[in-house]
Amino acid sequence: MPGSRNQKPEIPPWEARLQAQVDEFNEVYPIGTAVRAWRGVRGGGGGIDTKTRSAAYVLSGHTPVVCVDGVAGCIALTHILPLVGRVCRQCGCTDDRACVVDGVACHWVEPNLCSACAPAPEAA
Ligand SMILES: [Zn+2]
Ligand SMILES: [Zn+2]
Repeated sequence: MPGSRNQKPEIPPWEARLQAQVDEFNEVYPIGTAVRAWRGVRGGGGGIDTKTRSAAYVLSGHTPVVCVDGVAGCIALTHILPLVGRVCRQCGCTDDRACVVDGVACHWVEPNLCSACAPAPEAA
């Protein structure tokens, strides 16, 4: 019938944004990443050093969370501090051990890709 609408559910824009946030977290910090987690105020007392035991996900469509060892349930990503630096997916360099090219330390061009491994920009 003309004019009938496709009933495919749409993801609200804020949820897509949260999903992008957890996708980036998962790309940089795989399951088993060492993290400090706070059940109360981030940076306050009671932070525990543990590791993630799940991929991050959006809880109930409004809160990005991840599960960690030693804590029942999950913790908001805002209360998670990864204890490891990023690792380049190509060369394995880290924040502590950057590659040095022509005397210049690499930097991050993507969540887990350093400038030394990024495709060189096309010469104009
Ligand atoms: Zn690299
Ligand atoms: Zn590098």
